Amino acid sequence: MTKPYDVIIVGAGVVGNAIARELSRYQINVAVLEKELDVGLGTSSRNSGVVHSGIHYKPGSMRAKVNVQGNDMMGDLCRDLKVKIQYIGKLTVAQDDTDIETLHALKEQGEANGVPGLEILDKDQMQKIQAGVGGIQALYSPTTGIICPYGLTVALAENAVANGVDFHLGEEVKAITKTNNHFEVETSPGRLFKAQVLINSAGLFADNICRMAGINEYRIYPCRGEYLILDKRLEGSLSTLVYPAPRKGGAGLGIHLTNTVDGNILIGPSNEYIDESDDYACTADVIKLLKKEGHELLPGLSTSDFIRNFSGLRSKQTSPEEKGFKDFVIESRRDLPGFINLVGIESPGLTSSPAIALMVKDMVGETLSLKEKGSFVAERKGLTGFFHELPPEEKADLIAEDPDYGEIICRCEQITKKEILDAIQNPLGSKTINGIKYRARAMMGRCQGGFCLPRIVQILEKEFGYRPDDFLLSNPGSNLFTGHVR
Ligand SMILES: Cc1cc2nc3c(=O)[nH]c(=O)nc-3n(C[C@H](O)[C@H](O)[C@H](O)COP(=O)(O)OP(=O)(O)OC[C@H]3O[C@@H](n4cnc5c(N)ncnc54)[C@H](O)[C@@H]3O)c2cc1C
Repeated sequence: MTKPYDVIIVGAGVVGNAIARELSRYQINVAVLEKELDVGLGTSSRNSGVVHSGIHYKPGSMRAKVNVQGNDMMGDLCRDLKVKIQYIGKLTVAQDDTDIETLHALKEQGEANGVPGLEILDKDQMQKIQAGVGGIQALYSPTTGIICPYGLTVALAENAVANGVDFHLGEEVKAITKTNNHFEVETSPGRLFKAQVLINSAGLFADNICRMAGINEYRIYPCRGEYLILDKRLEGSLSTLVYPAPRKGGAGLGIHLTNTVDGNILIGPSNEYIDESDDYACTADVIKLLKKEGHELLPGLSTSDFIRNFSGLRSKQTSPEEKGFKDFVIESRRDLPGFINLVGIESPGLTSSPAIALMVKDMVGETLSLKEKGSFVAERKGLTGFFHELPPEEKADLIAEDPDYGEIICRCEQITKKEILDAIQNPLGSKTINGIKYRARAMMGRCQGGFCLPRIVQILEKEFGYRPDDFLLSNPGSNLFTGHVR
């Protein structure tokens, strides 16, 4: 049995980590159990990275409430955690009269939800915001933003660690039992954890965790969204987000172009129910469709601009036959005191994560007495963004302090040796190549690691004593090497 905790959170996605950080303000022992070898490897690193405004959900619904509140909280949170965020606004575009009706309904709904600054724009007004955009009218939402989803997920976890939360990576929850006033949680390496409060934030696998706890009323249907990533050559082509007006029966918000805070553009996501909750395949048919849509949405796109693809899975509560959306489930179970359950946290879960964390904190307060710690530190150390984005004087100062800032390892993304070293020595203790990639952005550029991966491998071998068996891409078994050739 490991040390007893007051609270255990299952799942280190953006929601679990936001809850962990929120609870780290109080005098309680908190642990996060995550089955992967790093945080944020589920849906939280596989999405559009949009901070939604809150126009899409029914007034009075949980989704509307946490979306609008989360959007409002995100600016301050990102400032404290040193995560890049840009409120660049969004045009939802109508192509015909039915779409125009949809825009008016969305405006009314958004206003009822408390979304500020919504405006219906005519063709000329749309062009002033985004030259060349097609369509006859648009709804403009100025509070829509973009964020690095993985950056936020890691930052929340690191700040939680700095404030005393224990992250146990590579611990898959396999069984849950309730004894007296405690939950006993068994994980796949055969360890036993104990806590008074258990929070299910397991994303696509939340229904499995429910069943382990004896709750059988939920089922998650994974629905895949594939994306293409475009080269940074196109940076600046879009000054705002452009989405189509949503159509009835769709499972997502339609295929669209999304700027990322790091200067790439994404095309996607597609929308396809699949059988397995870990099937992140990218398929030839969808890639073809996304390329076609990309050429229509962004004339001037060349085939060589597509540098990579990826997919994410929506944790839908509606079956392929029902389609549409169900509301988020965020509940403190009366039939299982101390069990807090989060199910179906699909979009806009990234945006809503800080608001969900506040709600869950109040639920934890029903079981535990929450006294604030005097020692809580809200700010995370480090740079906001990357070294190459700094003004020349700041760069010179940093190189004078640490010459490793003066050596570029990843040429495409201009990432320095110091940034690679910081990613390797991360506070969560993640040791995978993808852990370095997501933290430092090395290997994310045009050559996809062709140039810098061997140099990173050298650093890990020479400076950290890695042996061939230690190099994992991501999961156990994803070994990169079998041995030395010479
Ligand atoms: C295609 C797509 C686009 C999206 N776009 C946006 C967007 O632009 N804006 C927005 O706000 N939202 C968006 N979302 C939604 C958003 O990504 C999710 O709502 C959010 O990431 C959910 O976070 P989570 O922490 O609940 O789940 P996850 O990130 O999936 O985290 C759950 C974690 O639980 C772990 N886990 C599961 N089972 C176990 C177990 N037995 N033991 C231990 N650990 C376990 C998993 O490994 C995982 O790390 C999008 C989603 C998709 C799929």
